[in-house]
Amino acid sequence: MFGNIESSNPPFVTRCWRSVDDVLKIHYLNYLDSLLENVVIPKELYHCLVSGRICDDCSHWVLVSDYYKQILSCVETAVNAYIPLKTSVS
Ligand SMILES: [Zn+2]
Repeated sequence: MFGNIESSNPPFVTRCWRSVDDVLKIHYLNYLDSLLENVVIPKELYHCLVSGRICDDCSHWVLVSDYYKQILSCVETAVNAYIPLKTSVS
């Protein structure tokens, strides 16, 4: 189900991670950090997290899925901003 996330940009695998130097890595990580600061763990999940038991609340599964999508969206945005695309020869 997570494979259906809409994107107008090429997926992560078409990025040239090998060409990323330390300076670019720092920019990427700082930007990703700033984006992730806006993602909040749903407070409804705290009880489940501390209980140590397997959650059987379907509404929580939806919250986890949305939380996951928000994190993935941040990573995708940061990748699109800083990680160059692979060229056809690389
Ligand atoms: Zn739960």
